[in-house]
Amino acid sequence: MKILVLNCGSSSIKYQLIDMQTENLIAEGIVEKIGEDIALFTYKSTRFTKKKREMVIDNHEQGLQLILEALIDPVTGVLSGLDEIDAVGHRLVHAGEHYSDAVVVTDDVIRVLQECVSLAPLHNPANLIGIEAVKVNMPNCPQCGVFDTAFHQTMPAMAYLYPLPLKFYTSHKIRRYGFHGTSHKYVSLKAADYLKRPVEELKMITCHLGNGASITAIKNGKSVDTSMGFTPLEGLMMGTRCGDIDPAIPIHLQQQLGFTVDEVNTILNKKSGMLGLSHISNDMREIEDEILIKNNPKAIMAMDVYCYRIKKYIGSYFAALNGLDVLVFTGGIGENMSMLREQVCREMEAIGIKLNLEENSKRIDGIQVLSAEDSKVIVLKIPTNEELMIALETESLLRQEK
Ligand code: ADP
Repeated sequence: MKILVLNCGSSSIKYQLIDMQTENLIAEGIVEKIGEDIALFTYKSTRFTKKKREMVIDNHEQGLQLILEALIDPVTGVLSGLDEIDAVGHRLVHAGEHYSDAVVVTDDVIRVLQECVSLAPLHNPANLIGIEAVKVNMPNCPQCGVFDTAFHQTMPAMAYLYPLPLKFYTSHKIRRYGFHGTSHKYVSLKAADYLKRPVEELKMITCHLGNGASITAIKNGKSVDTSMGFTPLEGLMMGTRCGDIDPAIPIHLQQQLGFTVDEVNTILNKKSGMLGLSHISNDMREIEDEILIKNNPKAIMAMDVYCYRIKKYIGSYFAALNGLDVLVFTGGIGENMSMLREQVCREMEAIGIKLNLEENSKRIDGIQVLSAEDSKVIVLKIPTNEELMIALETESLLRQEK
């Protein structure tokens, strides 16, 4: 079975074609800047090294058409025809409280995506456009989707309710939803599989640290709490997002300092976090260089805040779970930045976390055990693979349908 995984953004389509027998990637790439004067099309396959082309791409339909043409092209292609694609699996963003599992895209799913546009105004419209583009280009191909919010639908009310007047939840659906669900689910399943223990018996904390960052408490394979909230702005400090702050600060910025709503939005989402505190970059590789090479105090301070906040979440989720078996690091930063993992796990013996510093400093592909032998908690580094998770869930749905 071959599954085409699509992640449609407002002006982009990321794609991966996956062979489900081997779980290997056959082709991948991205269409960017759709609708702008010059768009970019990147394509790479098992038969063809990466190529980037500048061209005019008016809409997502055209973008998808280019992808499909490249996949069946006699020179660059990897398929003899589009009928070799058994299904499309979409990364979908917000389903409100509707779905806790992967879905076959039906009229109901499309209605839910439309209903939830106000909750994800940038992402849900792009998801809908992507689904439409597949319908036009591949009318007979089944479409499935996995919502970023789905895995967190198991959270109990005490974790997802905000202490606001209840009507904001009942009438306006303002609550914690959580994001990065596909990644948290994937690494929790991988961890259980790697440790040869049933996921249903494990208490885990998974740290997805990328440009966006979130942390999830998982009990018996189910998300019971997560740091991102009504939007992806809450929780950990991120590349450019502030994460948890006193909710009165945005009010102060407007009332006392004269910023407009849009300006506050930009400050909190695009100018804060690592970039805002360090004044250097949102890219952790640059922060790491500044610390290691120049001993830059601003970079050190920003890193201290970043790590301290992760540490606090680990502590609170340890309490929420009443113990911890496995701590997982994933995402571009979690997988690659040993210095950060060391700082987060330093002086955590009281809750059973002790790193093997030598192992932690090694650069090894794939899953790695980072904890010391006498650590009560097993600390793992697990490369995430959201696309493969979406493909696996799509495959499983198709098999159920047959
Ligand atoms: P996204 O959230 O966009 O999917 P990723 O999970 O790819 O992002 O993570 C991107 C982040 O990972 C960037 O901040 C980047 O600096 C960081 N990163 C990638 N490689 C390394 C590395 N070798 N060392 C430290 N940080 C890294």
